Amino acid sequence: MRAAILENGLRKVEIREKSIAGPTDTQVKIRIKACGVCGSDVHLIAHGTIKCRQYPRVPGHEASGVVEEIGQSVTKFKKGDRVVIAAGTSCGICKHCLAGHENLCKDIGVFGFDCDGSFAEFLIAEERYLYSLPDSIPFDQGAILADAVSTPYHAIRYRGNIQESDTVAIIGCGGLGIHGVAIARALTKSKLVAIDVDDGALENAVHYGADDVINLKNVKNPGKALKEVTKGVDLLVDFSGYMSNVEESLRAMNSNGRIVLVGIGRQPLKFLIPFILIEKMISVGGSYGSDRRAIPELIDLYTQGKINLSRSITSHHGLDEINDCIEALESRKGNPIRYIIDPSLD
Ligand SMILES: [Zn+2]
Ligand SMILES: [Zn+2]
Repeated sequence: MRAAILENGLRKVEIREKSIAGPTDTQVKIRIKACGVCGSDVHLIAHGTIKCRQYPRVPGHEASGVVEEIGQSVTKFKKGDRVVIAAGTSCGICKHCLAGHENLCKDIGVFGFDCDGSFAEFLIAEERYLYSLPDSIPFDQGAILADAVSTPYHAIRYRGNIQESDTVAIIGCGGLGIHGVAIARALTKSKLVAIDVDDGALENAVHYGADDVINLKNVKNPGKALKEVTKGVDLLVDFSGYMSNVEESLRAMNSNGRIVLVGIGRQPLKFLIPFILIEKMISVGGSYGSDRRAIPELIDLYTQGKINLSRSITSHHGLDEINDCIEALESRKGNPIRYIIDPSLD
């Protein structure tokens, strides 16, 4: 098959022929129809700041496709089925996996980093990583459910415990945060505020249902600005990784508020007035990836018409254009959300 291959130290992928074995008993061979290019692929491929467990490696962790072949003990899928492939891999037998929280597995991995991913014509994956994709959801929008949409879903729905009456603020409207806006819109009837430093990203946020936007370039203190546009925030989710934004937003939080951190930054998080946390009983927690609830529940929201992600699909490209997509994603020219790789376009 044709595949995009990353060698250690090389800052681009090479398109080469690669042999692929048949599926084992519990595996499924999938013909890839769509695979999103994620911000973490920029770090992996162009920067080399994220490393794979071993090289050479086929990247790509946000994919959908059609079942081509199944192993002997596969029961849930058959040839021709449309599927989404989970971004993460897990051991399947530890207490967290058995409880359905694969994102807490001690052996957690990611397709395209810890094993070969989906920037290729085919992928072989364990049956338990697959989810049925209904005909009503196109392959490109189905693919991004695997990470760009499921990660913010887990943060907002499960870590943030969003309620219909919650006023919500989303900080950082890039590839993950913009879908945080779309999900929050589907799950709250109250006010939704989007915060970023980029007008293009905030424009996307308005299209996905933000009632108000705050450009941090124009305000000194996000907490004060948030307080001005809301009567107080119940749920704040940070995708930016800039902890100073989170610290300053504390003063806008309502009693029983929840702060969820998703963006990974290097700054320390310090609360200068921790008494507010105590007095208002505000909780602060992290959220990483998602578990097996996310993709089926997102498919339900989609089929109920509560989310539509067509605006997130920037354009479609063959494997040959992955390096160009990485470059374009890095420059953010034209506000791309997701470039989709479709191996049939080469
Ligand atoms: Zn990703
Ligand atoms: Zn496990």
